Amino acid sequence: MRNIIIIGAGQAGLQLGNGLLGAGYNVTVVSNRTPEQIRTGKIMSSQCMFGNALAREQALGLNFWDNECPPVEGISFTVAGPDGDKAISWASRLDIAAQSVDQRVKMPQWMAEFERRGGRIVYEDAGIGELERYADSADLVIVAAGKGEIAKMFERDDARSTYDRPQRALALAYVTGMTPRPDHSAVSFNLIPGVGEYFVFPALTTTGPCEIMVFEGVPGGPMDCWANATTPAEHLATAKSVLETFLPWEAERCANIALTDANGVLAGRFPPTVRKPVGVLPSGRQVLGLADVVVLNDPITGQGSNNASKCAASYLASILEHGDRPFDAAFMQSTFERYWDYAQYVAGWTNALLAPPPPHVLELLGAAGNDPRIARRFANGFDDPRDFYHWFMNPDAANHYLSSVHNPSLVTVS
Ligand SMILES: Cc1cc2nc3c(=O)[nH]c(=O)nc-3n(C[C@H](O)[C@H](O)[C@H](O)COP(=O)(O)OP(=O)(O)OC[C@H]3O[C@@H](n4cnc5c(N)ncnc54)[C@H](O)[C@@H]3O)c2cc1C
Repeated sequence: MRNIIIIGAGQAGLQLGNGLLGAGYNVTVVSNRTPEQIRTGKIMSSQCMFGNALAREQALGLNFWDNECPPVEGISFTVAGPDGDKAISWASRLDIAAQSVDQRVKMPQWMAEFERRGGRIVYEDAGIGELERYADSADLVIVAAGKGEIAKMFERDDARSTYDRPQRALALAYVTGMTPRPDHSAVSFNLIPGVGEYFVFPALTTTGPCEIMVFEGVPGGPMDCWANATTPAEHLATAKSVLETFLPWEAERCANIALTDANGVLAGRFPPTVRKPVGVLPSGRQVLGLADVVVLNDPITGQGSNNASKCAASYLASILEHGDRPFDAAFMQSTFERYWDYAQYVAGWTNALLAPPPPHVLELLGAAGNDPRIARRFANGFDDPRDFYHWFMNPDAANHYLSSVHNPSLVTVS
């Protein structure tokens, strides 16, 4: 039986680990936190996942929260105008509802499930020495440590990384008591030109249903304001004050909100980074990077957990197809390139949204307010962002798309 060791018990590591167990592999996951530490620790993400990623979890029998987790039924999009009004505002339903299960709920249960299916979990903070030991004993070592320090052993890929510093000051608050938006639930996304973005959606946390507030402040701007909030109560007060200043329609929904728990807040920043997938240890042995370790995106488009799920599924297919052949550097590189065939489009779209919107994007987002077909296409693009390259990412494609929507008879089929 082939022996695979995965460093990191997160979305990607546990999904891949459970998938490999199902195919008869001998799998060990190394975690620097126990299930209890994860469950009672700080929030880590807003982890909204769309239909394709959820289907991958479902295929592995890991969708334990379908009845409990409130669905995210659509996307709403608002651009704040200069006078506290809405310059653009529309909403569209998703074809398949999205879901956000707090990783503090999900990972402990996935760890228990992994052990129930015959996997082994070792608790330690793996460093280079531990990787050497694991690489000596296993057929393949995969590093799925997210933003953990150990990820830095993988060299930054300068050619594939767009930015070398954080593009947003990030903050999260998990709350109860928010007034639901009308019609249907949604990721309610707000763009405040020059200031940043705010989005909010329903989720399931350790105490039950909640709403997750996500703030993306342009560094140095008025939404880069979390450093002085030293207590959870101050963090919540800062969140409310940002909304009162820039997004009064969102502030109205927050009159009665309270934090879900004292650990339901987070603030930080990191540079979006693509890394080379083959990590070389001092001995010359090689390990393979997975998910955030190799493609780390800003959360502005809510893609990280989706990518982690898709990366785990792609690596699983590559490993199974490889059979009994050695897991050498060529295998590692080609396994990553197969995933990059998808992830490069997500990274490109996400990095584009971090820059000020060009005229053709504003035109498309405005047109979506008048035509539900455009709104629907934008909303459902979150499930597979490759579609944006056909109509959103450059002025020519946008012009062509808009003229085809406005005058379908102009479209030629070749
Ligand atoms: C503010 C914010 C909001 C986000 N919102 C969304 C969203 O709405 N939708 C979405 O899809 N994504 C979102 N993401 C991104 C998403 O959370 C991540 O991309 C996803 O969790 C990555 O999965 P992973 O398995 O690669 O890493 P992680 O989930 O980070 O798991 C890594 C695990 O490895 C462990 N570890 C680290 N180092 C070691 C070590 N040396 N030894 C052993 N264990 C180790 C960690 O403790 C952790 O448990 C958001 C992220 C942030 C920061």
